[in-house]
Amino acid sequence: MYPTYAVGHEMKLIFNIDGVPVYKSSNIQCWPILCSVDNLEPFIVAIFYGNSKPSSIDDYLSDLVSELLNIREDGIRINDEVVDIQIKVFVCDAPARAFLKCIKGHTANHSCERCQIRGEYYERRVTYRLPEEDDDLPLLRSDVEFSRMEYPEHQIARSPLLDAGISCISKFPLDYMHLVCLGVVKRILVFLRDGPRACKLSKQQFRRISDRLSSFNGKMPRKFARQPRPITEMEHWKATEFRQFLLYTGPIVLSGIVTDKIFDHFMVLNVAISVLLLSKSDLRNEYVQCTRELLVYFIREAASIYGNTFITYNVHGLSHIADDVVFYNSSLNEISAFTFENYLQKLKKNVRNAKNPISQVAKRETEMEKNLKRRHLKPKYT
Ligand SMILES: [Zn+2]
Repeated sequence: MYPTYAVGHEMKLIFNIDGVPVYKSSNIQCWPILCSVDNLEPFIVAIFYGNSKPSSIDDYLSDLVSELLNIREDGIRINDEVVDIQIKVFVCDAPARAFLKCIKGHTANHSCERCQIRGEYYERRVTYRLPEEDDDLPLLRSDVEFSRMEYPEHQIARSPLLDAGISCISKFPLDYMHLVCLGVVKRILVFLRDGPRACKLSKQQFRRISDRLSSFNGKMPRKFARQPRPITEMEHWKATEFRQFLLYTGPIVLSGIVTDKIFDHFMVLNVAISVLLLSKSDLRNEYVQCTRELLVYFIREAASIYGNTFITYNVHGLSHIADDVVFYNSSLNEISAFTFENYLQKLKKNVRNAKNPISQVAKRETEMEKNLKRRHLKPKYT
């Protein structure tokens, strides 16, 4: 099933694989494989359903791997035209990437997917302090070495994706939605609320920030999917709310309450991510090197503001995301899970009870497809 509006002579596929808990009160979860053609509306490739994540990665991916091998060789014929298929990226959160790539999880001390930095245990956490000199930055990982299983401290087994010719380093960007929005931005707020004395705000200061944020509720332009909620409810915030805080509301509500050092540090992240999100590639590329330096500076400074425990997997990952933007010639948004987020929520809502959830999803999908076709068949009066 391919969206007809996306047909051209070449298609760039973006895959998204993630575990979705179906019910709050049980372990039942779906593991859909979604695909988007050129960042358009995603569609379902396959769904696994069970009491835990799939136990065998080989079984879970076997149909996808053989299908990818076929379409890679023959392309796809649509309306008598052969369409060349390219796999752009797999966009997933860190646990799903570890599952697909058969690597150690993000709490292991060789977990960075881009470089060979060794994490150090600090107060029961694996932390990644960057060396002071850029010349001493850790060696980067390569697709060739990964495919030869040359990272025994990082790889657990051979990923079946390698058999489909998928490069397991360069086809897996560090997803901005999970790494930056749900990762680093949330971590800043948690440390401002509960962190070490050097950065922790008083209850009154935290309340003032929250009240400022609440005062914007109902006043944000319509282009924002959500209106700001109090920061005291951040445990329930969605990724879009952390994004809104980083890019728009955070600089206003933090100003004058946090110290200048914390504020300036936050603004370094704000500026760097704003640049990496620019959709105009020439403008983005002009500043991308500067962005990379800003993010390395952000990580180095973070230790002196929030303490060593702040620099875990997600914070370290910031040192690599500018490279991803250059490599894919895409803004962070175009290689992020935001493309799939709404669809995943819709998919979850389509499961109305515990009886045969996959057939419920399939029925809703068929209905939606029929409706879409009907709309396309309507005569146009111009
Ligand atoms: Zn790294």
